[in-house]
Amino acid sequence: MDLISLIIPCYNEEKNISILYKQILNSFKDTKYKLEIIFVNDGSYDNTLLELKKLLNKKNFKIKIINFSRNFGKEASIYAGLENCSGKYAVLLDADLQQSPKLILNMLNVVSNDPNIDAVVYYQSERIESRFTSFLKGSFYKIIDKLSYVNFKSGASDFRLVNRKIIDTIIKMKEHNRFSKGLFAYAGFNVCYLPYVPDKRANGETKWNKKSLFSYGISGIISFSDKILRYSLICGMFLNLMSLIYLITLIILYLIKIKLSFWLVIIGIMLLLNSIQLIFMGIIGEYINRIYSEVRNRPIYITKDILKNY
Ligand code: UDP
Ligand code: MG
Repeated sequence: MDLISLIIPCYNEEKNISILYKQILNSFKDTKYKLEIIFVNDGSYDNTLLELKKLLNKKNFKIKIINFSRNFGKEASIYAGLENCSGKYAVLLDADLQQSPKLILNMLNVVSNDPNIDAVVYYQSERIESRFTSFLKGSFYKIIDKLSYVNFKSGASDFRLVNRKIIDTIIKMKEHNRFSKGLFAYAGFNVCYLPYVPDKRANGETKWNKKSLFSYGISGIISFSDKILRYSLICGMFLNLMSLIYLITLIILYLIKIKLSFWLVIIGIMLLLNSIQLIFMGIIGEYINRIYSEVRNRPIYITKDILKNY
């Protein structure tokens, strides 16, 4: 049977590791699937690494621990997992027990029943967060979908299965400001979406707060929104035309000798133009920032060591 690689990013998940392992074992022990589990320890400062090392004694599955030199973020962990996996399929799974390993069997069923399907993605049919957070997340996906040439499925999670073709495609995308949902959407292929409702986080806390979600959102939009540049151009041309019309009107008024105090109008328009300029300078700044971090070309992650049970 083909090898399936589970990729599990772990950042301070000491209390969840052994439970997760049991869940995986229960879900897969009587199935035909051969598993390789790749845990990425993303610079945890609790006992996550110790908990992971305990699993190396188990012989049910191939287990690999990629131990980062510090915290590089979930996106870098996913990349490391994909780069180091040898399965025909890879499955991305969170360590916090929000995504039940049992559901992986459904994804595997989909691809074994239809060989044309390259990826299976779970989307949240119901959000368990507060109304405000789900509103923000929902609006984020609407905006990014409008601003980008690739399609984003609203509520699509990182809980997904991808085949070798997609794994190899994603590994080739070596950009540093990674936004996996965008990269997978960019890759294309035939994707099947399945609904699911995530469980509540079992132990520990989510690593996201309002500030980090906001910057993740901005980062995603900037990395995948080539259309913003187009809009700024159209906007600039439109304003150019308007100010030309405005100037011509001024000249005509001057010629027909109408005396008007234009100062208030002029100040208003100057302010408007300045604010628009500032907004677009900000956007350009964001892009330059991205270019800067890409050209430095530092590694996406740094590994301290790799541990295996085989
Ligand atoms: N994670 C990680 N590095 C980080 C932050 C998170 O590897 O810097 C892992 C985390 O351990 C978990 C998964 O990414 O397995 C999802 O994180 P979290 O539960 O905080 O995100 P949420 O489910 O709230 O989106
Ligand atoms: Mg979580």
